[in-house]
Amino acid sequence: MSKKISYDSQRQASLSQQFDHVKAMIDTESNARATEPVSLLAVSKLKPASDIQILYDHGVREFGENYVQELVEKAELLPSDIKWHFIGGLQTNKCKDLAKVPNLAYIETLDSLKKAKKLNEARGNYQPDQPAIKCDIQINTSDENQKSGLQDENEIFEMVQYLVSDENKYVTLSGLMTIGSWDVSHTEGEENKDFSTLVQWKQKIDEKFGSKVRLSMGMSADFKQAIKQGTSEVRIGTDIFGVRPPKDQAKIL
Ligand SMILES: *Cc1c(COP(=O)(O)O)cnc(C)c1O
Repeated sequence: MSKKISYDSQRQASLSQQFDHVKAMIDTESNARATEPVSLLAVSKLKPASDIQILYDHGVREFGENYVQELVEKAELLPSDIKWHFIGGLQTNKCKDLAKVPNLAYIETLDSLKKAKKLNEARGNYQPDQPAIKCDIQINTSDENQKSGLQDENEIFEMVQYLVSDENKYVTLSGLMTIGSWDVSHTEGEENKDFSTLVQWKQKIDEKFGSKVRLSMGMSADFKQAIKQGTSEVRIGTDIFGVRPPKDQAKIL
């Protein structure tokens, strides 16, 4: 068992307060709608392990990370009952390292059948006794070339079919994820069309497969709108942890 990560009390006070503030805003928006409560995923990418330990001691158990190597290192240093969510761009050659992390609970950015099969195989080989990895299919709702995610109906249905089939017991279907376009997320007061597109995909899939997929949409800039439009989870980094350092200056310890 690794030694507990230490932290300073000033950072503890400000970070806990910031988390509570964001959580309260989300609960307020969430209570205003009729459906289930919204989960808050704390996005800790490029932030030190001590920040995660602070929120862990504050009761938080779910954290989102974008880089495989960083997630692997943090998972080794931090408590094993954390449920890690991978939310970064997924590369085929990193699927194995990711699937080896025992307490990896979710991959929210699954965007190809090839990667799904790699993950299933690696999980079965290295962590057969751990829970299956819950996968959210990333959908490119904004039609921007630089965004990853699926757009083609046949490919999306094929992926859902693979994830719900009994043969793949090490990866299972969780839901759908999208990153809304920056322009759309900064237009206040209107319905976010990227989020509407994701909701339409949910309706199509649930109808065809008899499923009840969850939705992961909304970040610091656009989470209120995502909650109004029916998300199950929002992914918040900056509003909780503050501005991130550039990648080459980020330190885990
Ligand atoms: C970084 C990131 C977030 C958090 O973004 P903030 O704007 O800092 O809240 C959420 N989702 C994904 C996919 C990210 O990469």
